[in-house]
Amino acid sequence: MPRKKSKRILIIYTGGTIGMMKEHRNHTLVPVNFKEIIRQVPELLHLNCKIDFHASHKPIDSSNVQPDFWEELAGVIKKKYNQYNGFVILHGTDTMAYTASALSFMLQNLDKPVILTGSQLPVGVIRTDARRNLITSIEIASSDRIVPEVCIYFSNQLYRGNRSEKYTSSKFDAFQSSNYPALADAGVNIVYNSDFIRKRERKKLSVQSGFDTNIALLKIYPGIHNDVIDSTLRTPGLRAAIIETYGSGNAPTAPSFVKVLDDAIKRGIIIFNVSQCSGGTVDQGKYETSVQLMKIGVISGRDITTEAALTKLMFLLGQKLSKREIQKLIQKDLQGEISDK
Ligand code: ASP
Repeated sequence: MPRKKSKRILIIYTGGTIGMMKEHRNHTLVPVNFKEIIRQVPELLHLNCKIDFHASHKPIDSSNVQPDFWEELAGVIKKKYNQYNGFVILHGTDTMAYTASALSFMLQNLDKPVILTGSQLPVGVIRTDARRNLITSIEIASSDRIVPEVCIYFSNQLYRGNRSEKYTSSKFDAFQSSNYPALADAGVNIVYNSDFIRKRERKKLSVQSGFDTNIALLKIYPGIHNDVIDSTLRTPGLRAAIIETYGSGNAPTAPSFVKVLDDAIKRGIIIFNVSQCSGGTVDQGKYETSVQLMKIGVISGRDITTEAALTKLMFLLGQKLSKREIQKLIQKDLQGEISDK
């Protein structure tokens, strides 16, 4: 007798390599219709949960993702939240970590799994990684072990979304989470890392929207011109900037460099220090090369990823908060994206 399918999962298809095919004319990969995915993965119809599909009007390469896309996605989840036990979002890998981070800040009091996945090879290719990523994501989303987080599932690992980064465009394990353990490891069994999974909120979902993109990301490198930094920080309307520094948050000590940042802070711009290293933490004051940053009021991003820092800043700037509140919240752990001091 067939088992009763008690869990309901919504698959939201947005595009990405998983659903792409070679265009005949110029041989580039372009997104195709979701029906093609179902045709390629007929197993979807035989899983032990009831699956519904929601497809964006026009599937996109995730390099075209913009904040209004995050608003749209969060809107779909909000609308369908009570009808489903979990959500699986098919998304391109290029900006998946940004979308996962953005959603983590928007979907407050989340009590159900929201899992983003995709693939490095299109679903129609024989060696594709799409089938396993998709099927295991659905299995996790419908499991009785509820992971109430926005996650990325890729190549046997379930990661916290706002701790993840795409680190390779050629290997199947495209993502890593250097500063936070995987939430689950899918081998013969799916082993959940319970100590590191957020506790269930059992509160009503609250979806907060609004992103202010008046920010800049500046990667520090040997030879960078102060003029480049200064003109970026003088962009009309700019409210905040992330400086991607070396190692544990270090940058040149040249007074002319520090002055450009100091002037910007005095003009009211928030400056957030995130490391160029994937692993480890910003520790302003550890080296002489970060003491000045601390003195002028640069805020430490500790072990946050650049993707989480960017989306968190845009999100906080998009809420009706005072500058002081933003400065406080940017350092605070909101959705597991940053470790305590
Ligand atoms: N360019 C693709 C995308 O992000 C890459 C991928 O999905 O792997 O949509």
